[in-house]
Amino acid sequence: MAYFKGFEQSQAVRGIFGDKTEEVLRNLKVDFTWFGYMGVNDANGHMMVNRNYLNNGDKTDIYLDVVHELCHVKQHLEGKPLFDQDYDYVDRPTEVEAYRYAVQEAKRLGLSDQQILRYLQTEWMSDEDLKRLVNNMGIDLQTDEKK
Ligand SMILES: [Zn+2]
Repeated sequence: MAYFKGFEQSQAVRGIFGDKTEEVLRNLKVDFTWFGYMGVNDANGHMMVNRNYLNNGDKTDIYLDVVHELCHVKQHLEGKPLFDQDYDYVDRPTEVEAYRYAVQEAKRLGLSDQQILRYLQTEWMSDEDLKRLVNNMGIDLQTDEKK
């Protein structure tokens, strides 16, 4: 998995996989796509990465996305369904956990609450959804300072 060389050194990634970090990263398959940002294929556990985003996206965003997606890889390995439609996106336990890892890492990197909120709010997420997600994560972020 040459694309994410060095990720085994990341404390966040080690926090997800522990002693299995090297093994998981070695076996992780990446499929390149031409849509979206990143995801994990629930059928085979492969990571899907938009090559255009990888080449042109913000490096910090990409790093945090990788942390998020690696959390989904862990969930997949544990046999959890990644896309449980019984939940809205911002309430889905697998998403909340993945976002929590990414946000903890963003805080460790020194991003401000505002920067983190900007990172979290994708184009399909309303302000209300964002607040719900932050609330679900149980992480202290000042949502009122936004804008
Ligand atoms: Zn996700």
